[in-house]
Formats: sequence, C-alpha cells, structure tokens
Amino acid sequence: MDRPEIRLSFAPELHLFVPAARRAGRSAVRTDGASTLGHLVESLGVPLTEVGALLADGRPVPVSHVPGAGEEIAVHGVPRPQRLEGPARYLLDVHLGTLARRLRLLGIDAAYENPDIGDAALAARSAAERRVLLSRDRGLLRRREIWAGAYIYSHRPADQLRDVLSRFAPPLAPWTRCTACNGTLREAAKEAVQERLRDGTERSYDTFAQCVDCAQVYWRGAHHARLDAIVAEAVAEFGTGPSPEGDGHSAIPRVSSTTVTNAR
Ligand SMILES: [Zn+2]
Repeated sequence: MDRPEIRLSFAPELHLFVPAARRAGRSAVRTDGASTLGHLVESLGVPLTEVGALLADGRPVPVSHVPGAGEEIAVHGVPRPQRLEGPARYLLDVHLGTLARRLRLLGIDAAYENPDIGDAALAARSAAERRVLLSRDRGLLRRREIWAGAYIYSHRPADQLRDVLSRFAPPLAPWTRCTACNGTLREAAKEAVQERLRDGTERSYDTFAQCVDCAQVYWRGAHHARLDAIVAEAVAEFGTGPSPEGDGHSAIPRVSSTTVTNAR
C-alpha cells in the first residue's frame, strides 16, 4: 500500500503534546494513505480540542481531510478567545476541584463531582448539558461524545483560572454562585437564615445570601482578603463582560462563609 510522506508543523502552544523531535519546524510523517488529518494529529499526541486551523499547503482544510503525498501541513492552536455555541458552561474532572470553586466564585457555571463519576459519565454529561469539559487528561479529551473540551495547561490553580478566562472570556458575575455546589445565590432576609448562622454572625452582619440549591448561607464580610484578591485580579484583567441579566447585579456585594474559604 502507498504510504505517502507529508510534513507537519505545530504551533508553539501545542509543542508540549508532541515528541521533542516534532517541536522545531516541520517534520516528516508517513501516513497510511487513508487516515484523516484529525486522526493523524491525535495519534501524534495532540487533543483535537486544542487544535484550531489546519492548513494544507496554505489552504484551510477540515479534520476529515486525508493528506496526500508531499503536503505541508500546519497545525494551529485554538484561537483565544474561543467562541462557544451557547452559554459558557463547564464541567471539571475530579482533579480540578480548586479551579471549580474559583470559577464559581466568579459566577461561572462550573459543574464538578467528587468522588469521580468516571470518564464515560463525564463525557456523557458534557454532551447532555452542552458543557465544556475541562481536564488535564488527554485520554478523556479524546472521547468522541464530549460536546466541547479544553486541556488545562497548568498544575497551579491561579494559572488554571487565567487559562480558562483567557481562552473563553466568559462573563463574570462575582459572588452570585455557591462555591460548594454551583447553585445560584439569592438575597435572603436575616430572619430567614437565622437558625443556620453561628453565634455572633447574626449580630455582625445584615446582608445575607442563600444558595437556592443547597441552602448554604453566605454573608457579607471583609475577612477573606484572599478571595477578594482572586476576584479583583480576575475582574481587572478580564472585565466582567456582558451580563446575562443586563445590569451585572450580584445577589450580595461581598459574601463570605465557611464554604467560600475553600476556594482559596
Ligand atoms: Zn449550594
């Protein structure tokens, strides 16, 4: 069988996925003459979730393109910000719990389950709920059924957060979402939440919010400087973007609670 040789080059942001020998400029690959370019790129270690434009001899081609002998293929990374079809909703694998809580702190819909529900269930949920699956697991991101996915490049939560915000530019609505369960917060009267408060809290604060899903109570406070800093940095660098509600109003201006602290 004819085994055409092609030449491939990868954008710098994709270099961590490919063997060292393929990082510097173009390198030769022998194909089987039948495989698609998408299959070929994936077989070299690059998740297709990270691939943007594919050029064959300078022309854009789809992942279904079957490269012919002598073609020069350029593999680009996804453009930033990457546009999504539909609202920005995410699903994080079991290793990204801190990132999930920080996204929620910024009001971003970030589903996360611990203990692990498994790759098949994660992929199915991504498809069913049209959520972008965030993971550092290339095998998980290769699953065909996922709606959309993104590889998380760093181990560090601060870098992971910047990675997601710069990649998708989601609208931010800090302090509007429960960091414990991803539910939305609504304003709550002190009398309504009184029995859930610890001694002393009710005397010190007047503004409360409560999660509509798990009933966790949040209250205004100034003692979580670290969380304030996470929010302030994100808003300063990325802005809040267009608010789905139009006015960017949050359920409560600044809240803190025992569960918010685990977002640090
Ligand atoms: Zn909740």
